[in-house]
Amino acid sequence: MRRRSVHALLSVAAAAAAIAALYLRPAAGARGASVLLVTIDTLRADRVGLYGARDVRTPNLDALGSRGVAFEEALSSVPLTLPSHSTILSGLEPPHHGVRDNGTYMFPSDRPTLATILKAHGYATGAFVGAYVLDRRFGLARGFDVYDDRIERRSEGASVLESERRGEAVVESATAWIAAQPGPFLAWVHLYDPHAPYDPPSPYREEFAGRPYDGEVAYADFCLGRRLAAAEARAGKKLLAAVLSDHGEGLDEHGEKTHGFFIYQSTLRVPLVIAGPGISRGARRPGPARTADVLPTILAHLGVAAPGGLDGSDLLAGAPRRETYAETLYPASLGWSPLRSWRAGSLKLIDAPRPELYDIASDPGETRDLSPQRPQETDRLRRALVAFTKDETMTAAAVPAEVAERLRALGYVGSAPVAGDSLSRLLIHSARAKDPKDVLPLWQSFEEAIWAEARGDRDSALATLRALVGEEPANVAFRRSLAAALRRAGRARQALAALGPIERLAPGDALAWHERATALEEAGRGGDAVQAEEQAIRLAPDLPEPHNHLGVLLAGRGRIDAALAAFDDAIRLDPNNARAWNNRANALRALGRRDEAAEAYRTASRLAPRDPDPLNGLGVLAVEAGDLPAAGSLFTQVLERDPGYSEATLNLAYVEARQGHMPSARQRLRQVLRAPLDPALSRRVRALLQELEGPP
Ligand SMILES: [Zn+2]
Repeated sequence: MRRRSVHALLSVAAAAAAIAALYLRPAAGARGASVLLVTIDTLRADRVGLYGARDVRTPNLDALGSRGVAFEEALSSVPLTLPSHSTILSGLEPPHHGVRDNGTYMFPSDRPTLATILKAHGYATGAFVGAYVLDRRFGLARGFDVYDDRIERRSEGASVLESERRGEAVVESATAWIAAQPGPFLAWVHLYDPHAPYDPPSPYREEFAGRPYDGEVAYADFCLGRRLAAAEARAGKKLLAAVLSDHGEGLDEHGEKTHGFFIYQSTLRVPLVIAGPGISRGARRPGPARTADVLPTILAHLGVAAPGGLDGSDLLAGAPRRETYAETLYPASLGWSPLRSWRAGSLKLIDAPRPELYDIASDPGETRDLSPQRPQETDRLRRALVAFTKDETMTAAAVPAEVAERLRALGYVGSAPVAGDSLSRLLIHSARAKDPKDVLPLWQSFEEAIWAEARGDRDSALATLRALVGEEPANVAFRRSLAAALRRAGRARQALAALGPIERLAPGDALAWHERATALEEAGRGGDAVQAEEQAIRLAPDLPEPHNHLGVLLAGRGRIDAALAAFDDAIRLDPNNARAWNNRANALRALGRRDEAAEAYRTASRLAPRDPDPLNGLGVLAVEAGDLPAAGSLFTQVLERDPGYSEATLNLAYVEARQGHMPSARQRLRQVLRAPLDPALSRRVRALLQELEGPP
């Protein structure tokens, strides 16, 4: 039903576009205009009113469409957030910028982006992102004066919601920055809200009860409206606004709930609207338009020369290019075949171990595979695909380790860094790897296990992961996930067993060695853990988390100087890592470098305002400096954030005792003893309590 109405809209729009096309390019261009680029993550075109959706609420995007040009069929080239944003910001398709998956790759340091180009033309540049997947460590911050990626990271096992931030927080930060700009600016605002898990705030939660995805879309549109209003207030009529999504969402089409596994239209088709000075109001273009076209279109409209060799081209000039590329290498992170696609006119090839061919015009839902009947066209498209990708690159892996924890929380599984010739091996051997459509049930189970654990349904997650390892015993991604889930459930020995013989199964998998190191530590085998973590670092020296964890292990063995060096490595690779900053502070405090320690605790606290650890550390420093009132206040703040924090309760009791508030101190200590404690802490509490109560 939905598909039919979209198709009908396309044909009507195509007629309108033929007329509108004549007027799209302004005579004078929009030289010096400010640019607002808004990417709404995971927004399907057919969930937007402008694109024919009913029972949704997207008034701001609809209104922008009526003030500018909307592209009826805009296509993402990759249904993954970091690779797709790399394309939007560079005008290059993934084979040419080299960012092929989330968490595993880093945008190359020598490629121009919208930010580097406009900054060189005197623009102020600011980016405001809503999710950890776009953290500065993945390389997109270059060229931005301000890159606001303050997304509070929670320790592993925390709620999935805590690795993203609400659209209003992103918009608030962007609004303040824009208001302070005296001249032309580029502001990129990334709204993550429609991405799973779907949890719209009130009143959208109630209004869209039972349809939380649509509720998130309505909320994102509300945030877009606030952003547009603020930008227009600042830039007036000299504002060029481009709004699009990085990819769609499966919503159960083709058996895919979310995105990243397949490359059907459900996850590739996105809304794309451009409005601003000199752009015809209410124009429609049939497309296909590509997300790679956004950068060249903006630059052409501003009269700024685009770099050579781009895949994208100016959408407002001439006929749209009729060929499009798409890919997902995500299945390869699970050991299965990657997928690529080539589209020419209405024909679309999905190159898989068993290829598929669709006629999008007559079959927009991609339900009838034509490849058996039309082998020549299948071959023709495959040859075009091979020609397009012959010079492809993969950037040095930024790498996934610690990322894996957090990306898992977002619903992604990390993949091991791709080294040396792995790309060619991966692609050449893909014909022998399993076709994603043949392992769809495994993927669905795997996704369900990830979400079950995120919901706190640990038993269900473990049962599913065990079944998956039974199904594919050589699948290291399944084993890593099972081991991590067991470890988080406190079953470190079982985690080690689940991981299996890494030396034989995946000797080059840094993530597996890191997982083993973590499980070994929790099983009380710190010495072996150091060795495993050192192996992970040898394999992938650019992964931050093994350095951080190695530091923790070394500090636990009294090697504070070596630990400090490891924490410094982690911070160099991942400057927003609050846990590494807190660990660094602890090491500095242990070395008596108190001023530096205080500075590091404050950095950690700024990066993770709800994390009680840095405040507890500052409290201990205050005690050491003899400032008991300050210490008491800090420990009180810690306990407001986390009433079950036993060390802080003990610390506050100590401060109260020193200040002579004995009844309160005694009461706190008894309270601590009621909670489950590790034996060393329990001994300290009993000793202190005995001291306060006097000899028995
Ligand atoms: Zn995304």
